[in-house]
Amino acid sequence: MSETRIPLSAVGRPLRLEDLAAAPAGGALLDRLARPLTDLRISVTDRCNFRCSYCMPKEVFDKDYPYLPHAALLSFEEITRLARLFVAQGVTKIRLTGGEPLLRKNVELLVEQLAALRTPGGEPLDLTLTTNGSLLARKARALRDAGLRRVTVSLDGLDDAVFRRMNDVDFPVADVLRGLEAAREAGLGPIKVNMVVKRGTNEDQILPMARHFRGSGVVLRFIEYMDVGATNGWRMDEVLPSAELVRRLGAEFPLVPLEATAPGETAQRWGYAGADGRYDPALGEVGVISSVTQAFCGDCSRARLSTEGRLYLCLFASQGHDLKPLLREKQASDAQIAAAIAGIWQGRGDRYSELRGLRASDAAPASGARRVEMSYIGG
Ligand code: SAM
Ligand code: SF4
Ligand code: SF4
Repeated sequence: MSETRIPLSAVGRPLRLEDLAAAPAGGALLDRLARPLTDLRISVTDRCNFRCSYCMPKEVFDKDYPYLPHAALLSFEEITRLARLFVAQGVTKIRLTGGEPLLRKNVELLVEQLAALRTPGGEPLDLTLTTNGSLLARKARALRDAGLRRVTVSLDGLDDAVFRRMNDVDFPVADVLRGLEAAREAGLGPIKVNMVVKRGTNEDQILPMARHFRGSGVVLRFIEYMDVGATNGWRMDEVLPSAELVRRLGAEFPLVPLEATAPGETAQRWGYAGADGRYDPALGEVGVISSVTQAFCGDCSRARLSTEGRLYLCLFASQGHDLKPLLREKQASDAQIAAAIAGIWQGRGDRYSELRGLRASDAAPASGARRVEMSYIGG
């Protein structure tokens, strides 16, 4: 097995039951940089039916790739138990992701369990899911009926040839557009569309995408191509900085900056201006996610739970904290698991994107360790 095939399940720090004191009662859980934990992304599968070159390049994720065996995956009950404990400690937003989350069998049953959770104040969660849209036409109604509130759909272009090249499995753009329509009809809104922009590959799709979604109620967000994982052969010269993208977009559609809706929000928002030069809500907005050129670690409140129960504190982490043994062999109590989560979050000092800007080599991970893949912990 070559180096690039080492399953990332091989990493992680053991947690010992005897080290777990009681979780702090009440009050927000803060990390070492005083950031609260409010947002949990849960990967429900490490598999995908697409092979986007920036995420799961074909040469690495081929038929011999060691995907996780089913028994290694957290069950829906295990995921819901952990989610409940995270929510008790301040998480208000849960995003299901992957891999392709709609490939996980009966994922709507998990949605139903998560939708029943309530914050300590009795509020329902902001429950959402990120998908490549390929199965959405079939699944949108069941997901909505199960209690999903909204979806984010990834779409890297409208030109069929460009899109087929980006997903690298010859998947047609029309099927994703049908999925988007089904989501809209099912009431899964507001819908967001994520477009990863690679200079020289799909930058010619920026304006067609903007024209298509402007005034449609869908919020289009442009994501800078990121140096996640260790397999996508990332190069800085393939990143189209958001500032340049906003300039190009603004040349066709006048834009006005909008306030962030929540602290820690990943996207900078721009509204389309009407004839009077002011933001026109009927035309809607776009977002830019400048993860490479403008770090936003300062209020990053996101944690990621991998398909097999490892907790990652940063998208660029190389180590996760394995919670599965607490759920299985050690049969830990809720209080012990809550204490583990609290201890892990309180020890968090991650701020990779900020540090990237300070390092000489853009591509090298801070510790020299191998970074976890995006398809394993989710975006
Ligand atoms: N398969 C689903 C999808 O594509 O929406 C969910 C998982 S995917 C890993 C989540 C998001 O991460 C997608 O919007 C995808 O475009 C984004 N993503 C993956 N690799 C990326 C990279 N290298 N740079 C920026 N965004 C990336
Ligand atoms: Fe699959 Fe999503 Fe990664 Fe594309 S970005 S390969 S659709 S997990
Ligand atoms: Fe959060 Fe890590 Fe991204 Fe910074 S680099 S914003 S800490 S996930």
